[in-house]
Amino acid sequence: MQFIARILTLILSFLITNFGFRNFHKFKLTILLFGLITGVYGQVNDTISIENVNVIPMDKEINLKNQNVLIADGKIISIEPFKREAIHTSHQVIDGTGKYLMPGFSEMHYHWRNKQGGIDRDFKLLVANGVTTVRNMAEYDWQDHMSIKDSIQKDKKFGPNYFTTGPYLNSNNLNTIEDAIAVVNLHKDKDYDFIKLADNLNKVVYLKVLEEAQKYHIPVIGHAQREMPLEFSLRMKSIEHVEEFVYVFNNEQRKDTLFLKQVIKQIKATRTVVVPTLVVFDFIIKCLDDQTFFKLNEYKNAQYMLTSDFKYWYSDENPFRKNLKGKVTDGMDALPRLEGYFEWMKTFTKMLADANVPLMTGSDTFGFVVPGFSLHEEFQFLNECGLTPFEILKATTITPAKYLNTIATEGTVSVGKNANLVLLNNNPIDDIKNTQTIEGVILKGKWLDREKLNSLLEDVQSLNK
Ligand SMILES: [Zn+2]
Repeated sequence: MQFIARILTLILSFLITNFGFRNFHKFKLTILLFGLITGVYGQVNDTISIENVNVIPMDKEINLKNQNVLIADGKIISIEPFKREAIHTSHQVIDGTGKYLMPGFSEMHYHWRNKQGGIDRDFKLLVANGVTTVRNMAEYDWQDHMSIKDSIQKDKKFGPNYFTTGPYLNSNNLNTIEDAIAVVNLHKDKDYDFIKLADNLNKVVYLKVLEEAQKYHIPVIGHAQREMPLEFSLRMKSIEHVEEFVYVFNNEQRKDTLFLKQVIKQIKATRTVVVPTLVVFDFIIKCLDDQTFFKLNEYKNAQYMLTSDFKYWYSDENPFRKNLKGKVTDGMDALPRLEGYFEWMKTFTKMLADANVPLMTGSDTFGFVVPGFSLHEEFQFLNECGLTPFEILKATTITPAKYLNTIATEGTVSVGKNANLVLLNNNPIDDIKNTQTIEGVILKGKWLDREKLNSLLEDVQSLNK
């Protein structure tokens, strides 16, 4: 392409020297050629070559050493062994020596909680943390997530690949057959990606939503229907929060390994995807214990919380402090009860992973669960459950891409896919903590180096002053 550009430049300079601008037609031709040259150069400008890099493609557990990855017009166009003598034709050359290139991460349980500051604030935090795909899990009254999604798609807004549910539906706004029909119609008309349900809906209403949604191929997702047998919840595409299984099963069932193994077989057979969201449960537990709660003051990523938000969550106005702390249920205080649940949730998550039930990473983003950073914390908790780094990386790359039906263009580092990638300084398959060693992010084929990512974080901090 540079060759064509050079030829066009030669023709242009020839025309200007020999004919000048006296002849109007020649002038028009000159403008046309100039347009062509900038067009061709523009394409050259979009080319990125990452040289001598280790590639973690994520379609299998492998590290392809010393590769050259060429990106043009937002897509990966070649992945080839690095040759030192290669001539760089790209506009942008990134030295990948000793670094690791992998698909961008997916935050599969995101909420935009703070009107103040706007959603752009969260997008900066997410992208700075290597998140290139987000599934938003509710639309509150004051929000319009389809317009946000549209603006991102049209490049009018800086943000990750965006998917969204409609309004969060619970028994307050979804209580009759008529509601069920209206809700599905709303989702169809507005083209939301998912219908999100809360737990404990009326059975007839729940079944009607499923039936109506199926007509229009709108996936239904959400919490478990705790009062119904598990099979009812497994009719949804995914179940949010492994915590839900605590309430679907009774005390005896949770302790019965044989029962749990059977249940996991049942989950696997339905191909329901589970999003554990462990980090948010850890945060709730921290709110119930004075010692861990007051320590949140030292939490380093609190600097990215809105000041007003920090003040609210770091006070006794915090709803978990106010309503849950010290509450005794069945003769047991909330703190040891939730701690017990958390241990069970970790064991159950490991069992799900061992049985190859598809898992996805999501963090629930509220309070001290700060967008972007919280996803890496979720990785840590999944690691604590006993999942290998590769299993965790799958849950944030290839599994979400399959789930979102974007596997043709996302989820792996392979030729023909969109360039939504992260460049890491250390190997994430060796240690999941290495997902935090972000050197740069490629979002829609655009390179954001460490300096740029830092400036995104600084932007967010400056809003809090
Ligand atoms: Zn949620």
